[in-house]
Amino acid sequence: MLVTRFAPSPTGFLHLGSAYAALFAHDMARGHDGRFVLRIEDIDATRCRPEFETAIYEDLRWLGLCWDGPALRQSDRLLHYQAAIQRLDELGLVYPCFCSRKDIAQEVARSLSAPHGPDGPLYPGTCRGLTRREAGLRMRSETYALRLDVGKAVMQSGVLAFDERGRGPRGEHGRIAAEPLRLGDIVLASRDRAASYHLSVVVDDAAQSVSLVTRGQDLFAAAHVQRLLQALLNLPTPDYAHHDLVLDATGRKFSKRDHGATLRALRAEGQAPEEICNQLRRRAGAGLARSLPGT
Ligand code: GLU
Repeated sequence: MLVTRFAPSPTGFLHLGSAYAALFAHDMARGHDGRFVLRIEDIDATRCRPEFETAIYEDLRWLGLCWDGPALRQSDRLLHYQAAIQRLDELGLVYPCFCSRKDIAQEVARSLSAPHGPDGPLYPGTCRGLTRREAGLRMRSETYALRLDVGKAVMQSGVLAFDERGRGPRGEHGRIAAEPLRLGDIVLASRDRAASYHLSVVVDDAAQSVSLVTRGQDLFAAAHVQRLLQALLNLPTPDYAHHDLVLDATGRKFSKRDHGATLRALRAEGQAPEEICNQLRRRAGAGLARSLPGT
């Protein structure tokens, strides 16, 4: 059975961009007698707020989007993430990193050939070569993040691929060879976050039996390393359907700061939810149809 999900972070009110993502996942499931599930990605305690979570439920209901089963809250699932990190550690793929953002920026500036990812320079691997002893000693007194040694992990996992039913930002479609190194040695956990976005997403997509991950094209690069984590953790591989982003009048991605485009604001202006959904569906148009599974 087709299972899709909407996975918002309660760090602000839902805006037109998030409504589009929700509608896309919803329509894909409903069009195929599938299930549409909800997940609240609320483990970044510094940015998530309970009132935004409540607003997510209200706004989705106002739009007329019903989800199947109870919503999964990531803050309830920390033990599952810890177990996954432990498994990766047992595979010898996890190392502590003591670098601050500033250290990383300085290291990148010093290096002539710093590797770059889609969002800028990648972590240059400064702490990857520390001996166990040295790392152990520093862990007693310094704060650290846990990173995945992606190069080593790729040697263990071998060649991987995933199926893209939508479109990547460069039109990528169909069977895609995974390039997990695109984002460098990703963080798995840090002082502020018991589990990183990538780690929690793969664990939860599996827990919710998600078979088609739908989300914006800005997260396309994430699929490459998430595919690797699925292989290392023996989790099933969903298909992916990345969709285009709804842009504002100036061609920028909506952000949580665009108060005028929040569903709250549109509702206060007296806009009808059906009309918002219709407009968003028209935008999706051929894009939605093209990315239907099996087509
Ligand atoms: N929580 C993420 C966001 O709000 C979505 C992650 C995903 O769909 O994989 O952008």
